[in-house]
Amino acid sequence: MLVPVRILSSGSRQFDFSLTAEQIGEALPDRPDLIEVRSIKADLSADMIRRTITVRGTVDVEVVALCSRCGAELHRTITLPVRYTLLPASLAGEYGDEDEGFGYYNEDQVDLTECVAQTIALDFPGLIYCEPSCGSNVEKT
Ligand SMILES: [Zn+2]
Repeated sequence: MLVPVRILSSGSRQFDFSLTAEQIGEALPDRPDLIEVRSIKADLSADMIRRTITVRGTVDVEVVALCSRCGAELHRTITLPVRYTLLPASLAGEYGDEDEGFGYYNEDQVDLTECVAQTIALDFPGLIYCEPSCGSNVEKT
């Protein structure tokens, strides 16, 4: 979702939107335990102070997956916090290497899809369990 920077100049804005797995591209790798991504829903707010834009909120990723321990099929919505600070691309390089939760926007628009894709790429759990205790007694059975 592309947001024109000018609409942020009048104050904080809320953005609720859905994405398809295709729209986040490579953010969710092809994993054998991920059977299906049913939905990706973002609930974000964006603020601009001078030229720094902060994006805050959550993304809910609804998946059908296999438990990383027992292999049982599970249906789960995984909520990830989104926290991004974006600077104008014209300042790229002045603040050193790009860091997690830090990025750039071009002069007239902010790509919120990219913020969501980056969050999923960095924070989506590598292991998913059917329940927190799954596998803790596997060896005893
Ligand atoms: Zn399990």
